[in-house]
Amino acid sequence: MKKEFAVIGLGRFGGSICKTLSEQGMEVLAIDMDEDKVNEFANIASHAVVGDSTDESVLKSLGIRNFDHVIVAIGANIQASILTTLILKELGVDNITVKAQNDYHEKVLTKIGANRIVHPERDMGRRIATNIVSNNVLDYLELSDEHSIVEIVANNRVNGHSLIDLDIRAKYGINIVAIKRGKEIIVSPQASEIIREGDILIVIGADVDINRFEKKVVG
Ligand code: ATP
Repeated sequence: MKKEFAVIGLGRFGGSICKTLSEQGMEVLAIDMDEDKVNEFANIASHAVVGDSTDESVLKSLGIRNFDHVIVAIGANIQASILTTLILKELGVDNITVKAQNDYHEKVLTKIGANRIVHPERDMGRRIATNIVSNNVLDYLELSDEHSIVEIVANNRVNGHSLIDLDIRAKYGINIVAIKRGKEIIVSPQASEIIREGDILIVIGADVDINRFEKKVVG
């Protein structure tokens, strides 16, 4: 059975989620209190409706509790975002993802029981800053406050060395889980795998160890 999603708030963030889910063939109900926004999505989403999500009766009449996942993408109006999340929770929606504006907003959303809280602007800012500071780091995914998965470009210092030569696991306490080489991707590379300049190393470990590795070996 197709999964059913509802996106509340059709700004740039909610709109982008709505478009991508629709392109992937999902059933998407798009909701916004602004009629122009709803019209914009009428031909993109499966259904697009005008409604104020802080009004419980509106959400009830849309049968919101039957949706597999509801995304609350209301930005500036933190009060509306919190109230909407609270109503969704009370109506028994299983999966609620909410866009947070700041840390206080996130705290409240966590207390109310939002399943996933995202900070697109903050996260994209961090990503870009990390990429600007280090030309070798292409992208990263935070696993916790202290652990990440990072994509690092191999330079000529490691060119021609095998993983065992570099002794990465013992020296740095990190693991190379995959190597991207052009279109090829080597998952769980063998210790004998020879690194070439330009390879993208996908590394998992503690941030401090990844930084050490990045600075000493490729930086
Ligand atoms: P983005 O950065 O994603 O463009 P934003 O952070 O600027 O968005 P807003 O523009 O404040 O966020 O809100 C996103 C959308 O949510 C708007 O189209 C707005 O009409 C809609 N919205 C705000 N409050 C409600 C509500 N109570 N019910 C339904 N839609 C709402």
